[in-house]
Amino acid sequence: MEIKRGAPVSPGVAIGPALVLDTEGFRIPRRSVKSDQVKGELDRLRTALAASAASARLNQEAVSAKLGQQYGAIFGAHALLVEDAALARELETLVREQNVSAEYAVSRVMRRHAKALESIDSDGLATRAADLFDIEKSILGHLLGQRREQLADLQEPVVILAHDLTPSDTAGLDQEKVHAFATEAGGRASHTAIMAGVLEIPAVVGLGKFVTDVSGGDTVIVDGNRGVLILNPDEETLERYRRAQSTFRSFENTLVHLRDLPAATKDGTRVQLLGNIEFPSEVAHCQERGAEGVGLYRTEFLYVGKDTDPTEAEHLDAYLTVLRTLGSNKPVVIRTLDLGADKFASTADASAEERNPFLGVRSVRLCLRNLTLFKTQMRAILRASAFGDVRIMFPMVSTLLELRQCKMILAEVKEDLEEEGIAFNRDIPVGTMIEVPSAALMADQMAREVEFFSIGTNDLIQYTLAADRTNEAVASLYSPGDPAVLRLIDSVVKVACERGIAVNVCGEMSGEPTYTMLLLGLGIRQLSITPHNVPEIKKLIRSITMEEAVQAAREVMRLETARDVNNYLREQTRRVLPEVVS
Ligand code: PEP
Ligand code: MG
Repeated sequence: MEIKRGAPVSPGVAIGPALVLDTEGFRIPRRSVKSDQVKGELDRLRTALAASAASARLNQEAVSAKLGQQYGAIFGAHALLVEDAALARELETLVREQNVSAEYAVSRVMRRHAKALESIDSDGLATRAADLFDIEKSILGHLLGQRREQLADLQEPVVILAHDLTPSDTAGLDQEKVHAFATEAGGRASHTAIMAGVLEIPAVVGLGKFVTDVSGGDTVIVDGNRGVLILNPDEETLERYRRAQSTFRSFENTLVHLRDLPAATKDGTRVQLLGNIEFPSEVAHCQERGAEGVGLYRTEFLYVGKDTDPTEAEHLDAYLTVLRTLGSNKPVVIRTLDLGADKFASTADASAEERNPFLGVRSVRLCLRNLTLFKTQMRAILRASAFGDVRIMFPMVSTLLELRQCKMILAEVKEDLEEEGIAFNRDIPVGTMIEVPSAALMADQMAREVEFFSIGTNDLIQYTLAADRTNEAVASLYSPGDPAVLRLIDSVVKVACERGIAVNVCGEMSGEPTYTMLLLGLGIRQLSITPHNVPEIKKLIRSITMEEAVQAAREVMRLETARDVNNYLREQTRRVLPEVVS
């Protein structure tokens, strides 16, 4: 049994057989074969070994010609190893005696040798271990026909273990078949993590290296509540987790009756809980969980996997579907396109060529350089505003000028619609996200330009602490409880209250029970969160008084480190609702 710890990003516990994907997305299977199939497996194995050796020899020739024989020799050594009779014997014995597939035998044997080399503290041997992984990949490539795993096409329930999954990979997962996933890479607020929450698939990310320690079919446990992955658990652990699974389900069941009750503190302060959505179909989740509207509609998915950008009609169709499902009196905040950085590519995405896409042409910067794209979306948002309580919000605004430019373009689009006699709400509320420190620092000026602020803590944390939200190596820096981040949030809320404009928090922080008391205590009265988390946050709000929240916020603002803040808030939360503290 091996236990790994990472960041819990989507709650729930799953126990099941692992589907392991290596860094290039190849599946590492464990497939037992029937006795009468063993001969066929041995033939496949021999053919793949021969093909892999031949590829290595071709590489040797090509590299020798280009860089010299000493470099070509690296691949010559690969070929010799693949042709080694002892290796072939070892692989064939495993297939013959344990009735396993050729892929499993290759993966098992090569990884065992590579791990043995890695465990010896020597740079030279570490390089040899890397060579063995390379050779494994080459043989598997020949066995699997260079085919990457199609995650959308699974036949049996699995727990996916991978180096990383892209947001688009994750969005395509079949919830019926994928019971959980765990990845080596990734951070708490990456879009892969957010997508796991949307799909309600338990997930842990940022676990560090483990993919080479596990084989397809091994039993694993993913604990999305605590951020734990357990490889090959023993019987006692399995039993404990089966109990934890049922406790988690029954806690969730106790929350169902909260759906139609207000989110109000014990002493009567009303808080509005809205949902974050990516797809119109998620409005149903908002309703099931009792969200009072949509506080953040991320529209990036309209652009994913398409050769051309969506038309005005496609935008409008999606927005009207949201309004129709939700009911026209509920607010829907539509955020204009926020592509770039770790988000999905589009035809208009310039990030592929950028050295530092998180600081590059993403989001409104992209839209302001592509006015056709921007105006098309604005037209659809405005047209939708004739049918319900639609609000428009601009992401990643970093200067006042940028915000004014966005508003100017909006005014132009309004004029066009008016001239064309198309109905829309002239007074559509306009908001800006506050997710760049410069915007937070200029909040008093920004407040003059808009009707509402939405604090995007996912990006605000990353830009304040200079810690990539998707990089597990800096996950310890990336904390919503960091005092620098809290000072920015505090000052933005104060400005909004003074200027009488609405303010909410829509980053992942707003759905984490640990921070609910603090956010209320700082003056937040509206939270926009992943629908799945709404009942839990509502229960917590209904378990505290405003006085407790204000007191907690006062105490927190005196603390000096994220660790102190998080420990204090976890303790306070545990005191009122222990079930929600991992
Ligand atoms: C945020 O940055 O907090 C946010 C809500 O936007 P996104 O996660 O889509 O970048
Ligand atoms: Mg953001």
